[in-house]
Amino acid sequence: MKIALIAHDKKKNDMIELAKKYRGVLEGHTLYATGTTGTLVMGETNLPVIRMKSGPLGGDQQIGAMLACGELDLIIFLRDPLTAQPHEPDVSALLRLCDVQNIPLATNVSSAVIMLEALDKKIGF
Ligand code: PGA
Repeated sequence: MKIALIAHDKKKNDMIELAKKYRGVLEGHTLYATGTTGTLVMGETNLPVIRMKSGPLGGDQQIGAMLACGELDLIIFLRDPLTAQPHEPDVSALLRLCDVQNIPLATNVSSAVIMLEALDKKIGF
């Protein structure tokens, strides 16, 4: 499966911990990420990650374009709901496209864990 990982700045440590914990699940899939998130995940896990531009510079839109083309199967987007984002329109567009395309989307750690556990057990995928 093709999985996209995105984390806002205050959620990047959570993403790193998640990627480390589920490294064994993630390594069986093709990973994409926004720029900084991808660099951190690669550095901490040694997993190969195809990196887009940084989110505020268009990375969310690149992920969104892949979604629109049916090229992604699962999105983990750890959002920071307490900090204003300069690229909020891009974030909203990406979330909307997940619903348009009926693509599983986790926006917090708890839902990401459920998705990765389900992926591991091949439940629903
Ligand atoms: P980043 O982008 O991984 O390049 O920080 C994430 C985002 O803010 O959308």
